[in-house]
Amino acid sequence: MIAVIGAGHAGIEAAMAAANLGHKVTVFAMNLDSVGNMPCNPSIGGVAKGQLVREIDALGGQMGKLADLCCIQFRMLNRGKGPAVRSPRAQADRYAYSRRAKQILEEHPQIRLLQCEISEIETNNGKVTAVKDIFGQRYPVKAAVLANGTYLRSRVVVGGNAREAGPDGLLASNALDLSALGLPLKRFKTGTSPRVHSDTVDYTQVEPQEGESDTPAFSFDSTEPPESRAMCWLTWTNERTHEILRQNLSLSPLYNGTIEGIGPRNCPSIEIKVVKFADKPRHPLFIEPMGLDAKEMYLQGFSSSMPVGVQIEALRTVKGLERVEITRPGYAIEYDCIDSTYLSPALMARGIEGLFAAGQLCGSSGYEEAAAQGLVAGINAALYADNKPTFTLPRSSSYIGTLIDDLVTRGTDEPYRMMTSRSEFRLLLRHDNADERLMPMGFELGLVDNERMERLNIKLKQTETEIKRLERKRLTEKLRRPELKYFDLDDPERPELPGAVIEQVELRVKYEGYIRRQQSMLNSMSKMEERRLPECDDYSSVPGLSYEAAEKLNAARPATFGLAGRIPGISPADITALMIHETHGSARRALCDSRMEDDNAR
Ligand SMILES: Cc1cc2nc3c(=O)[nH]c(=O)nc-3n(C[C@H](O)[C@H](O)[C@H](O)COP(=O)(O)OP(=O)(O)OC[C@H]3O[C@@H](n4cnc5c(N)ncnc54)[C@H](O)[C@@H]3O)c2cc1C
Repeated sequence: MIAVIGAGHAGIEAAMAAANLGHKVTVFAMNLDSVGNMPCNPSIGGVAKGQLVREIDALGGQMGKLADLCCIQFRMLNRGKGPAVRSPRAQADRYAYSRRAKQILEEHPQIRLLQCEISEIETNNGKVTAVKDIFGQRYPVKAAVLANGTYLRSRVVVGGNAREAGPDGLLASNALDLSALGLPLKRFKTGTSPRVHSDTVDYTQVEPQEGESDTPAFSFDSTEPPESRAMCWLTWTNERTHEILRQNLSLSPLYNGTIEGIGPRNCPSIEIKVVKFADKPRHPLFIEPMGLDAKEMYLQGFSSSMPVGVQIEALRTVKGLERVEITRPGYAIEYDCIDSTYLSPALMARGIEGLFAAGQLCGSSGYEEAAAQGLVAGINAALYADNKPTFTLPRSSSYIGTLIDDLVTRGTDEPYRMMTSRSEFRLLLRHDNADERLMPMGFELGLVDNERMERLNIKLKQTETEIKRLERKRLTEKLRRPELKYFDLDDPERPELPGAVIEQVELRVKYEGYIRRQQSMLNSMSKMEERRLPECDDYSSVPGLSYEAAEKLNAARPATFGLAGRIPGISPADITALMIHETHGSARRALCDSRMEDDNAR
């Protein structure tokens, strides 16, 4: 049996992957009514996160399908910008999402769901052997995936009040101490916005934000764009709002020291925004439905842990929110997470065979980042249990690979959120070609079936054929003109083609030069990536290597030059010293070998 501790976005993917690869899986959760819970913004996707969701789908994961089924408004972000930064985003019905996520776990014949708190991970000779719950029940395992999210020793803070609790008023997990397993812990923090009653919003004073009808679905199984069934709205804070927040900064737990955990710099709370960006006269506030029939609205952009009174006073200065009633106050939550550099690229804990970790527990932030890690951890837990080689994704293949590589090689000092700027290959890692990049790997693993592969092959074939046809008709030159689109071409023989194929044809023709350049950069970097580091017992013996680099290499023991090059503190000069050491080493070995041959000959 494989144990998955957590039924959040990481746990769902880990459990489904391991079960789909033939293993019996038990999913443990503190509360089975919060499976796939969205304690923060009720949305899936967004810049770079949209790419992650499509990659998860291409590899055989669940989030894309769940999102297409349970989301209520769809938009393509950065539509007017280059293809590398275009990302689908959807407003989710968080209740429908949680219900459906629980249903797919319950309906899976290999999966058992269990509401109880795991308090101990049992190991023997460096291998995980069982998990134990707070009631003393022991569950023998072949492998286990830790996906505890924001629950470990979590503490919720509003104003000067703090209490041990998980998100959304759920219980914290205080019994499980991962440091006892030798996994170093960090204290992180995140926060969320207040929810308000929809009937207390004046919608005549705010800007409607419509959904779009041509945003592609997250899942490559869906051929039709999903329907937008809900509206969002936009309003703005103003100087009066900022004044109230600034006047009460001493009451903010972020400023009066009540909060110790480190928060995400790129997702600041409103009280930090009005201090850090004091020159800005206003900040956008998106009013988002929590569900299709929900009366609660989420205020995206007003994350706060100010006292409730201050939150209300500040909100009532905002246009459209003058009479607003809060249904749930914004709050901050601190929690323990592990130092992700203690994980291998397969997300296995160093020194504890069979123990994997994924999600917010590994220092990331976001449903999509959690789901991506959960999928890879679940796959590797199954492969480990089958005694098969691990599955890892190079950063050149995907945002999933970039995410995991950044976490396990560089680590993170704040909740890590995916951004397109984190990838040096973002023009190759677009949302629209995630299937081409990852579906064959999912197929090889056994998570993608023949039918999906067949559809992908048809799409690729149609794309190639159409580009060749346009080249023969000398239309590619025209299509390269930025103002012209595929359907603007004077081309009476144009065949009937699916939207996804036309999108590929346009992108490949228009960005051919950029794509080729990035591809050749990728090829040269891959050589470094695959080049194995020379065996070395103690790197401090390598001439020219800095003390810090030797120390870091001895600790991390990276397998390749590529991995070594990304460890913080290892400079290009250190990499050169290693290359020289390798060349000399092989020269020395060649010399020795030839001498031995001579000796033998003699
Ligand atoms: C207040 C708040 C604000 C947030 N704000 C943002 C944001 O602005 N942007 C963003 O990108 N992300 C944000 N997030 C993060 C986002 O919610 C998480 O990234 C995502 O939910 C992580 O998914 P996960 O699967 O790792 O963990 P979670 O979704 O937290 O799920 C953890 C699971 O583990 C279970 N569990 C924990 N300990 C045990 C145990 N000992 N035994 C059994 N079960 C256990 C829980 O019951 C739960 O099922 C926020 C989260 C919170 C709580």
